[in-house]
Amino acid sequence: MRIIVQKFGGTSVASPEVRELALRKIEKARDQGFNPVVVVSAMGRKGAPYATDTLIDIARSAYKYIADRELDQIMCCGEIISAVIMTGMLQAAGMDAVMLTGGMAGIITDEHFTDARILKCDPTKIINLLKQGKVPVVCGFQGMTGENEFTTLGRGGSDTSASALGAALNADIIEIYTDVDGIMTADPRIVENAKILDCISYGEVCQLAHQGAKVIHPRAVEIAMQKNIPLVVKSTFSEAPGTLITNIAKEDTGGSAVIDRVATGVTYLTNIVQVKVHLDDTMGTDASFEVFKTMADNGISVDLINIHPGEIMFTINADHAEKASIKLKRLNYEFEIVEHCAKVSVVGGGMREVPGVMASFIEALSRNKIAILQTVDSHTSISVLVLQSDIGAAVKSLHEKFGLSN
Ligand code: ADP
Ligand code: ASP
Ligand code: MG
Repeated sequence: MRIIVQKFGGTSVASPEVRELALRKIEKARDQGFNPVVVVSAMGRKGAPYATDTLIDIARSAYKYIADRELDQIMCCGEIISAVIMTGMLQAAGMDAVMLTGGMAGIITDEHFTDARILKCDPTKIINLLKQGKVPVVCGFQGMTGENEFTTLGRGGSDTSASALGAALNADIIEIYTDVDGIMTADPRIVENAKILDCISYGEVCQLAHQGAKVIHPRAVEIAMQKNIPLVVKSTFSEAPGTLITNIAKEDTGGSAVIDRVATGVTYLTNIVQVKVHLDDTMGTDASFEVFKTMADNGISVDLINIHPGEIMFTINADHAEKASIKLKRLNYEFEIVEHCAKVSVVGGGMREVPGVMASFIEALSRNKIAILQTVDSHTSISVLVLQSDIGAAVKSLHEKFGLSN
């Protein structure tokens, strides 16, 4: 049996007209001899009546501090509504379609409500349906605990559902349908001349996704990578071939090498604050330990860490700024919090040991008079902390400098 998982994001199921386009993609897969397993997101984006953000607003506007467990029960409704509607449409088109919640589809998670991890995915039910010639339509973004409670997989998690099902079913391919023609060298909302990448490695796209490119969930990529299942990100609204995510370079580059570009894309993360803790000479490493231990004990994850004799710098999510500030005050530290920061990154599988990458990076920013608050680099990325107001200029200048606009 040749299985294809086809995931349709919020904008791809938002209206009857658009769902018709999705239907054509499903019919095409069947015509090509595939058994499709359809995964859907909640309909529409922020503002749409059954979008995830709307459901969160409904719950939070009533009771701001509603618990994550309860929030998950309402968040799951968006995908349930969407899957029922999509199933109805496929049935009307003559397909034997069957709607399944994440739990019915065999997705079992831990109890980390709002950001649950998939513990196992039992494909038995879906395989049985496929053997009977049926088309399963699965609610994305959700799973079920061992206690039969709904969980969600983190925002953007329908991609993760698609990959988990693809891996469990040993699918030939996983298609992620969205509103852009593929993964681009930058967010097209910021860089008008961003280019579609026809091919990208799992590693690079994971880095891009972790550093803020919301086009695909990083966990979805990690799951597909473990089983080496090709993922294709493409548009519901066009016939463009999309971006193939795989380990293997395109045939015309030799067919076996991992893609090796100095820069593949530029991305950014917002809602960050920088914390600077001042130390005097007597404090030593015990103080660093105390600061980071305090953050850890309070569930605050830290990034962009620099430790100097007189100062420790790190970044945290802005939502944790108040808590961090209270804790540091209590410990009598002298510190400063720089608000409204963003992390801008250049990602590229081939930048390792290439001389001049950092120089180009700094040149692009200093030419545009963008203040650099902190930097960090790895073998495959360079990131810089800037003020949020500089995001546009920083992303555009780096995109240009690294030859991604040509
Ligand atoms: P869906 O609902 O289909 O999952 P998302 O909003 O999650 O759609 O992801 C698609 C959006 O991701 C695009 O509309 C685009 O604005 C944004 N995006 C951000 N970075 C990139 C990138 N590097 N390439 C393509 N799209 C990107
Ligand atoms: N509907 C969910 C969200 O908005 C999941 C998804 O779209 O992937 O986060
Ligand atoms: Mg998405």
